[in-house]
Amino acid sequence: MKSTMQDTPLSIGQLVRYGTSMHASATITTWSEAGPSTITFAELGRRAAKLAHGLRALGIDGDQRVATFMWNNSQHMEAYMAVPAMGAVLHTLNIRLFPEQLTYIVDHAEDSVIIADASLLPLLTPLLPTMTTVRHLVVVGADPAQVQAPDHIEVLGYEDVLAGHPDEYDWPELDERSAAAMCYTSGTTGDPKGVVYSHRSIWLHSMQVCMTDAMALAQSDTVLAIVPMFHAMSWGLPYAALMVGASLIMPDRFLQPAPLAEMMTTLRPTAAAAVPTIWQALLAHLEDHPADLSSLRDVTVGGSACPPSLMRAFHEKYGVPISQAWGMTETSPLGTSGRPDVGLSPEDEFDLRCTQGRFVSAVRARLVDDSGAVMPWDGTHVGELEVRGPWITGSYYRSDASDKFDDGWLRTGDVGTISEGGYLTLTDRSKDIIKSGGEWISSVELENHVMEHSAVREAAVIGVPDEKWDERPLVAVVVREGQTVTAEELRDFLDGRVAHWQLPERWTFIDEVPKTSVGKFDKKRLRGSHADGALE
Ligand code: ADP
Repeated sequence: MKSTMQDTPLSIGQLVRYGTSMHASATITTWSEAGPSTITFAELGRRAAKLAHGLRALGIDGDQRVATFMWNNSQHMEAYMAVPAMGAVLHTLNIRLFPEQLTYIVDHAEDSVIIADASLLPLLTPLLPTMTTVRHLVVVGADPAQVQAPDHIEVLGYEDVLAGHPDEYDWPELDERSAAAMCYTSGTTGDPKGVVYSHRSIWLHSMQVCMTDAMALAQSDTVLAIVPMFHAMSWGLPYAALMVGASLIMPDRFLQPAPLAEMMTTLRPTAAAAVPTIWQALLAHLEDHPADLSSLRDVTVGGSACPPSLMRAFHEKYGVPISQAWGMTETSPLGTSGRPDVGLSPEDEFDLRCTQGRFVSAVRARLVDDSGAVMPWDGTHVGELEVRGPWITGSYYRSDASDKFDDGWLRTGDVGTISEGGYLTLTDRSKDIIKSGGEWISSVELENHVMEHSAVREAAVIGVPDEKWDERPLVAVVVREGQTVTAEELRDFLDGRVAHWQLPERWTFIDEVPKTSVGKFDKKRLRGSHADGALE
């Protein structure tokens, strides 16, 4: 029997119509050197309409790709709204990719237009001659006449593209399964791979982000979206905010601890989201520059395992609870949410917060061992995590990559356990696990323990070749300013916290852990610079 329900598409156009009318007075605030500037969702909607008309006038039609090379700001939000709502495809370029990767993804996605922030032009303009599909470069905050571009690319000012166009747009009815936006993975191994989100997947994912046991966004919230809009669509925050009328704070390029702390004290966000390294840096800054974080009811940390020491410090010193979430560009990204069951003792609650959390409603998960056998959820059996669901990619754009899928499930490359109650505990990314004498050592577990030491600001662990054991852990330590600690002291500190055979012999002290394009520990670079596993 068929249902009697109407089959109206879930589209970004409807999200834009709804958010900008029903929540007309919600705001988006962008940080800048001159101070914050705020516009309402109603104004955002009018400007998105103008942008859509402007892009049509440039010849953007059908599912052509419009790329952004931008920080988190209100113009980027306008592109988030206008491009998919008009039926084109938004491609958020990761501004920190290597030049050859940027050229590769712009070419691979066949981007027709790039909208770029003035402050990022020095990174982009040298690459323009290699970007053969691009016809227009639209610059925000720069004089187009001053921008160097090859003959095949016309340079226009963002405000000029909007100027003179109507501030309403009749957003078309689109197939909800058609492409709305795309993001490439950062390509730590091989070429970056394209993930294409549909209107439907974005809509469903936004609803999930807003649910109470996920980020619980509501119109009463003000969300500080620190996670870049090019990193898995800022974890879905822009569209989720539009869906419920939560106001947004966009840090633009001011991602250092001092301006972030200022945003928190002056703009009073109720929620915020970023990778652990951002919060580590903020924590170190707050020690000498106390700030009022009391407006934050919740902080979401994801992208890498959140060290328990970080969670504890934020909670105990600032009263801010951290919730961990797991996800990937391929999973839109929300896959799990770290909100433990109610009624637990504070210790048990904390232990569960330190896991990656439980899977959200539409995401199915399983663990698979090397032989392809499905492992039980008992908190002990270890396997590679595979997931399925309506906002999980089923393929990569114009790429075979069949090894990344297993009978319709996405192979995540993450290894860990799932408890009977559904809590995911990731041991490592499969490529980061240290294989020592036939046994596995979790780099994440070692890092978390080392970071418990009060003199340690950051610690990253990699496997280095070892004649006897094949691989052994090497710990790269960043010591807190004004503190000292030796390798022997840290080894003693670990003794008793991890099995004796796991105790690392190799330690190195560095000024900073290298970071990836999205701010995670860059273990590939660390491995490159410590290939010989030198003991310092
Ligand atoms: P990149 O590949 O550039 O790191 P993604 O953000 O797509 O970009 O990376 C997804 C990966 O990040 C996951 O496969 C997992 O390894 C890691 N990750 C994400 N969230 C967590 C988390 N809460 N704990 C541990 N690892 C995480």
